[in-house]
Amino acid sequence: MKIETKCLHEGYTPKNGEPRVMPIVQSTTYVYDSTDDVAAVFDDPTKSLIYSRFENPTTDCVEKKIAALEGGAAAMCTSSGQAASLLAILNICEAGDSFIASSSIYGGTINLFGFTLKRMGIECIWVDNGCSEEELNAAFKPNTKAVFGETLANPALTVLDIEMWAKAAHAHGVPLIVDNTFATPILCRPIEWGADIVIHSTSKYMDGHAVQVGGVIVDSGKFDWTSGKFPCMTEPDESYHGIVYTEKYAFAPYIVKARMQLMRDFGCYPAANSSFLLNLGLETLPVRMKQYCENALKVAKYIKDTGKVEFVTYPALEGSKGHELAKKYLPNGTSGVISFSIKGGRNTAVKFMDSLKLASNEVHVADIRTCVLHPASATHRQLTDEQLVAAGIDGGLIRLSVGLENVEDIIADLEGAFAKI
Ligand SMILES: *Cc1c(COP(=O)(O)O)cnc(C)c1O
Repeated sequence: MKIETKCLHEGYTPKNGEPRVMPIVQSTTYVYDSTDDVAAVFDDPTKSLIYSRFENPTTDCVEKKIAALEGGAAAMCTSSGQAASLLAILNICEAGDSFIASSSIYGGTINLFGFTLKRMGIECIWVDNGCSEEELNAAFKPNTKAVFGETLANPALTVLDIEMWAKAAHAHGVPLIVDNTFATPILCRPIEWGADIVIHSTSKYMDGHAVQVGGVIVDSGKFDWTSGKFPCMTEPDESYHGIVYTEKYAFAPYIVKARMQLMRDFGCYPAANSSFLLNLGLETLPVRMKQYCENALKVAKYIKDTGKVEFVTYPALEGSKGHELAKKYLPNGTSGVISFSIKGGRNTAVKFMDSLKLASNEVHVADIRTCVLHPASATHRQLTDEQLVAAGIDGGLIRLSVGLENVEDIIADLEGAFAKI
């Protein structure tokens, strides 16, 4: 099946007389005929359902669909993108370990990695997104267990050289984890370029309508965990009657461990109703991504030509930062998100944004409706000036998330605001 078809048909195939649409199974628990049957479920929880803290039939359909879209072996949904980032790291790093991350990533992830995980004894080694292969290789320590980056970073819109980052990770025997939120599997499938784990905030384009907060982790099933670096995968899990994940679940040991151990213990699993809504978004994802890209390219060209901005970053736009990498990794477009720095800095940026009428001022992005955000005073407010520079953000920077309104209306709105500054 091609990807448009997968968006509609993967994950749920009704049998004779069953509902056409994947039903919402709003039940915390599942019934068995006997004690023996329940015991068998605990022996192999991947075969049947136990409890909706870590698995649910509705969510299961969405997990299968997203795994298929990304070309992975298995997936696990989470209650937010933040939970996906957290579990993706915790699944292989413990106190005393380190991992490498691109410094050009989502502000919430910077807080999680730089502060909260640090308090848990896990060190994040920050590396510039545009570093050379030598610089990246030099960042590894003996205790480094993973490498992390974003395909198309929020909000800096830097493009990750996935192949190069995967090569460096693999040369050091560790997996590359890629946050593919902005690209979605419609525009880029990081596993095809060597990534081992893919995560998403499904709250963005995948949902698309701003109705559910969620996340997902996809396991490519391809990484070899048996080098000796990952005893958590290759030695018996005492908390799960001695299961060895790489032996019992060789098809996707990483995701089975994440579910049976971390999701069991943390319980940040989405509600069935949220998964139902997410599935509706996934069904139209290819149509929407195409239109976002088309609208945003026109808007990016318009903004560049106004002469009122220091720069426009939209990697699909000729001359934009990241254009060369985008041609390789995102040949069909770079989503609806544009960032630009307005001449005049912070105050002018705020005035411009407050003059917009159609585009709403909101802490969201990748929505069906056009919205804007001033990262320096919102999502990236906690960062120091140095961290802001490393994340590619200055006071005049505006993140514009182009929606699916008629592009002429979007441009007219921008025109009105530019006239006010
Ligand atoms: C929004 C976002 C997240 C966090 O996701 P939530 O669903 O808001 O918790 C992580 N990564 C990226 C790239 C994001 O845009």
